[in-house]
Amino acid sequence: MTADTIVAVATPPGVGGVGIVRVSGPLVPQIGLAILGRSIAPRQASFGVFREADGDFIDEGIALLFPAPRSFTGEDVLELQGHGGPVVMDLLLRRCLELGARPARPGEFTERAYLNGKLDLAQAEAVADLIESSTALAVRLAGRSLQGVFSRRIETLIEHLIQLRMYIEATLDFPDEDIDDASASAVTEDLRQIIEMTRQIMAEAHQGQVIREGLAVVIAGPPNAGKSTLLNALSGTDAAIVTPIPGTTRDLLKLDIQIDGLPIRIIDTAGIRHSEDPVEQEGVRRARAQLVEADLVLWIDETAEGPDESIRNDLPADCPIIRVRNKIDLLGLTPQCSETDAGTEIALSAATGAGLDLLRAHLKTRAGLGATPEGAFIARRRHLDALNRGWRHLQAAQHNLAHGAGAELVADELFQAQNVFGEITGQFTPDDLLGRIFSSFCIGK
Ligand code: GDP
Repeated sequence: MTADTIVAVATPPGVGGVGIVRVSGPLVPQIGLAILGRSIAPRQASFGVFREADGDFIDEGIALLFPAPRSFTGEDVLELQGHGGPVVMDLLLRRCLELGARPARPGEFTERAYLNGKLDLAQAEAVADLIESSTALAVRLAGRSLQGVFSRRIETLIEHLIQLRMYIEATLDFPDEDIDDASASAVTEDLRQIIEMTRQIMAEAHQGQVIREGLAVVIAGPPNAGKSTLLNALSGTDAAIVTPIPGTTRDLLKLDIQIDGLPIRIIDTAGIRHSEDPVEQEGVRRARAQLVEADLVLWIDETAEGPDESIRNDLPADCPIIRVRNKIDLLGLTPQCSETDAGTEIALSAATGAGLDLLRAHLKTRAGLGATPEGAFIARRRHLDALNRGWRHLQAAQHNLAHGAGAELVADELFQAQNVFGEITGQFTPDDLLGRIFSSFCIGK
């Protein structure tokens, strides 16, 4: 347990009905006693007056005491719930500092919860993800991660790996023998199952990461094709100025929308075209830069033709381009979504709204949300990265096994995979990684 006591205002800055100061650490009983003037019964709401050292009134409110280890951090925790005014909160904070607490760093309460074994690392991250959720679906998925759904999947995977490794390592005790045929086929089958389990978790984690971070969709295409109109139709606002004059959208416009819980960051670009106007040239330059970071490009045109070669070269090799054939109302065509050799093509009218549902459905499918993600969980790039690295070790183990490499080499790859997967829940996590994770939290969490 850590020796010092930390304090922070846990409610957001500004004025609110209630403001909460949270204290964690060994000085909690004394601090409670000094501020309330009496000892506080554990786990009960105790109404009282919060006072300065000289007895001056700070606030009246409710004190909650959670003695260690049954608290969020696993230490003694005190919550002082007062009136949510910035000066009141500041006075209360100062009083706690005066009584020996020090200001908490961002995420330090959750970090202590992790260090005291109340949460594993994936759960601790889910606390921040829950707070930062931008859609109701993200909240539900972060909730599942917080309750340990993701962690249990990883733990099961690691248990299987350990079993298999122990079995293989048992053969290492007989150095003259390599894995014989019978046990090799059992090991091959076990390893196949572990790889399949990993593949499944990777797919679900990818889905969780998309729901957490959203899909970055660039709207691009020649001037006057209807990009702004489509943006407005998708977002239901008049965020982009729609005008019939080519080249109006000179700057970038970003907009967060959601489609059935999938957050989508839409980036509307300047009409990408050659121009002598320096302002427009700048718009075109920015548009091209955005294209590189996209998960997906919606290429809007009145024809079914995609972007020309020079624009294609700016796109990341694996970034899909969906061709949106706009203004079908002018041609009397019906909306449709078709797969062609050149990729997906969606015919719609941004102005009338015909076919927008096809586009929305397609975006959901692209994000892997075709079906409702039952049992899904929130995940981060860090988790996907660990899963990918572990996956490569498993592939290497499979390769070694298939090519009759020594049992030792196979076991070593499995061991590496186990360590890498352990980074997700924090079983094997470098300190600097912990620092990076918790410093992105808000203060008081
Ligand atoms: P941008 O330059 O690509 O952003 O194009 P705008 O969204 O500003 O649209 C250019 C013009 O096309 C405007 O006059 C729009 O009203 C019109 N427009 C956009 N979408 C449609 C559509 O689906 N049907 C019709 N008839 N006109 C459209």
